Amino acid sequence: MHEECGVSAVFGSPDAARLVYLSLYALQHRGQEAAGIVTSNGSGMHSKISMGLVGDIFDKPTLDQLTGNHAIGHVRYSTAGGSKIQNCQPIIANTGNGRLAVAHNGNLTNAIQLRKKLEEQGAIFQTTSDTEVVLHLFAKSKETGFVRPLLDALRRLEGAYSFVFITKKGILAARDPYGVRPLSLGRIGKTWVVASETSAFDLIGARYVREVEPGELIDITAKGLESHTIRTTKQKAHCVFEYVYFSRPDSKIFGHNVYEIRREMGRQLAREAPPPPGTDMVIPIPDSASVAAMGYAEESGIRYDMGLIRSHYVGRTFIEPRQSIRDFGAKIKYNAVTEALANKNIVLVDDSIVRGTTSRKLVRMLRRVGVREVHMRISSPPIIDSCFYGIDTPTRKELIAANLPVEKIRAYLGVNSLAYLSEQGMLNSTGMETKDFCTACFTRRYPIKLEKALKHT
Ligand code: AMP
Repeated sequence: MHEECGVSAVFGSPDAARLVYLSLYALQHRGQEAAGIVTSNGSGMHSKISMGLVGDIFDKPTLDQLTGNHAIGHVRYSTAGGSKIQNCQPIIANTGNGRLAVAHNGNLTNAIQLRKKLEEQGAIFQTTSDTEVVLHLFAKSKETGFVRPLLDALRRLEGAYSFVFITKKGILAARDPYGVRPLSLGRIGKTWVVASETSAFDLIGARYVREVEPGELIDITAKGLESHTIRTTKQKAHCVFEYVYFSRPDSKIFGHNVYEIRREMGRQLAREAPPPPGTDMVIPIPDSASVAAMGYAEESGIRYDMGLIRSHYVGRTFIEPRQSIRDFGAKIKYNAVTEALANKNIVLVDDSIVRGTTSRKLVRMLRRVGVREVHMRISSPPIIDSCFYGIDTPTRKELIAANLPVEKIRAYLGVNSLAYLSEQGMLNSTGMETKDFCTACFTRRYPIKLEKALKHT
C-alpha cells in the first residue's frame, strides 16, 4: 500500500483539539482523503475520524466535543485498497497496557511479516493498514507503563515512520532511525506541539524548537519532556522527494527551509540545462513547480511568467462530462492564457514527471493556444522506481522514466527539448550532507531493506 500522510500532536492546552485542527489545515497537502483527531482529558478519549477534507469534517460542535488538554491528528491519502474508513487514523486501541491511539506518516517495510506472525499468534486486525501492527506489538509487550512497551514495539519495526501517539497521560512522538519522513517539535508558551511540517507551527503561532531526531521517542506528560532512544544508525535516509515536491515551500523540514532548496534546484537546473536561444519566458506548472521555476528564471536571466492558471477548487474526484471532452482531466485543473502565450517560445518547468500523462495534456493545451516551442525542464532526476517509504508513486510499469529513455519521453510529451536535473545537482542543492538522503525513486538504491512482498511489480 502506498500512503502519504501528515501528523500533528499538542500537549498542555485547553485548546488542544483546535490547535491540532489548525495544524491539519496546514498539512492538508500531505493527504486529502481522510482526517482525524483524538483527544484525551486525562481519563477518557474523544475522537472524530472521517473521510474528506479537514475543513469539511470538523465544525464547531465537533471540536467542542473533542475536549482535553492533549490531542493528536492525522491527514491521509492512500491508494491501493486502502480507501476505507476503517483504515483512517488515528487508530485507537484498548490494551492491557492502557488505552493508546496512533497516527502514522510513512510506510513500514516489514509490516506484512510482522502481521503474519501476530495473526498466527491469534491477533485480530481491524484494518489493512500497516500502522495497526505497532499497536499489537505494544499490547503484547511484557514491559509495563507506556514508554517501555512502546520502545519494545518500535524496535521491531523496519521502514519509515513518523508517529504520534496519545495516552491518557500525554503524547509521544517517534521517528525511525533513518529519519525518512520529517517530524518537528515546537512550543507555544508552555504548550508542546509536534507536526510533520513547520507550516503547522506558523499557523498556530508556535516556535520551532528542533526536529524529533531520527531514532528518538519523545514522551511528553505533565512531568515534562523525556527523550528516549529507539535505535541509532550512522546512516540517515531523509526523503529528498520531500524537498522536490511533497512538503510545503514555507516549511522547514530536516532542519532546512524547503523554499530555498527548491529555488536552488531551479537555479542548478538552469546551469545544467540552460534555455535555448530565443526563449521568451520561463513558466511553471503551478503550484508545485513555481519556486523551482523562479530559480530557473533567476539564474538564466529569462523572464518568469505564469501562463498556466490552476484552479484551487478541484477535489480528487470529479464527474466527467458524458461526451468526453479532450483532455478533460487536465482542463478542469489548468487553463492556458492565450494572450500571454501565443507565439512564444517557453521553458516549461515541472518538479517531476511520474506517468507523464499530466505533462502531455498540458503540452497539448499549450500548443492549442499557439505556443511555438516548449522546452521542458524537470527540477529532479527521472523517477525510475516506486517508493516503499511513504510517497505515493505508482508501480514501475506505470512510471514513464522506468520504461523509456529521455528522448522517447520527449517525443511522447510532444516537447521540443526535455532535460532533468542531475542526481548530484539535486542533492547539492540541499546544502546538506548528500549521503544522508534517500534517493531510491531516482536511483533504485533502497537504504532500508524491503520484505519480499514489497518487491517490484
Ligand atoms: P504525471 O502526469 O503522472 O507525470 O504527474 C506529474 C505531476 O504530478 C507533477 O507535476 C508533480 O508535481 C505531481 N506529483 C509528483 N509526485 C506526486 C505524488 N506522489 N502525488 C501526487 N502528485 C505528484
